[in-house]
Amino acid sequence: MGVQVVHHAAYEVDIGPHVFPTAKYRLVRNRLVADGSVAAIDFVAPNPATDDDVALVHTAEYLEKIRSGRFSTREILTLEVPFSAALRESMWLCAGGTMLTARLALERGIGVHLGGGFHHAFPDHGEGFCLINDVAIAIRALQRDGRIDRALVIDCDVHHGNGTAAIFQNDPAVFTLSMHQERNYPAWKPASDLDLGLDDGTGDAEYLALLRRHLPGVVERHRPDLAFYLAGADPYQQDQLGGLALSIEGLRERDATVLATLADAGVPVATVPAGGYARRPDDTVEIHCNTIREAQRLSSSRPPPP
Ligand SMILES: [Zn+2]
Repeated sequence: MGVQVVHHAAYEVDIGPHVFPTAKYRLVRNRLVADGSVAAIDFVAPNPATDDDVALVHTAEYLEKIRSGRFSTREILTLEVPFSAALRESMWLCAGGTMLTARLALERGIGVHLGGGFHHAFPDHGEGFCLINDVAIAIRALQRDGRIDRALVIDCDVHHGNGTAAIFQNDPAVFTLSMHQERNYPAWKPASDLDLGLDDGTGDAEYLALLRRHLPGVVERHRPDLAFYLAGADPYQQDQLGGLALSIEGLRERDATVLATLADAGVPVATVPAGGYARRPDDTVEIHCNTIREAQRLSSSRPPPP
């Protein structure tokens, strides 16, 4: 059984000249179809999250701000993307997409989202290109619906998952792991349950060894009902916003390692792409494609959970 990939054309939002390439979602989709990795029929479009879903994580005051669009100049500077109705609609769809991906993961063992991973969004504000925290919303919605009790967030974006860490800081049911470049945005890094802060220039071998040393034990001790994997493309050596030195192959091995570790433990996983800002946008597209190719390879080689 092939993987279904959750995607919506409206993820591509015009934010003007910007380092965040919102075209990447469309480009990844087209490449996967062109090379036969995913059939066009296996892409599924989500419904937007409801305001009730989003309110499981975000404050009423912040949601009113998003609804009215009344942000201060300082708030827009912190968000680092221009706010628009199209951005709001895209982010509600994307949160709905991560929720759908999580449900597919519970049914099939692996769910793949071609969007999401907006881990810098806090309950009361957005920052670093992230308006609302799709992964946190999906976790809270699944808990509300009685689908899961315990979740694990494996955040391998080059930037610390500050919003996610803060949201789940006092919640023993949700384990947050962030593997990131220590000397990079965000300046304030609220503690995850496990923070693996990496030195500038960390390469494939060191990165993969650290991941293999920590991840199996975390999965075994926490025993999650579902894991979310933020497969950031920005630990890449040519990334404009990152200072690590992973190769495209090393990132693919990272993806394979995370997915196989979870499959071995019988833990369903929902993957989201998170960040990616390579000097050559084509490299970002290829790194994200590889995550989905690895998910496809694994799901066709192993039966879904009973
Ligand atoms: Zn990032």
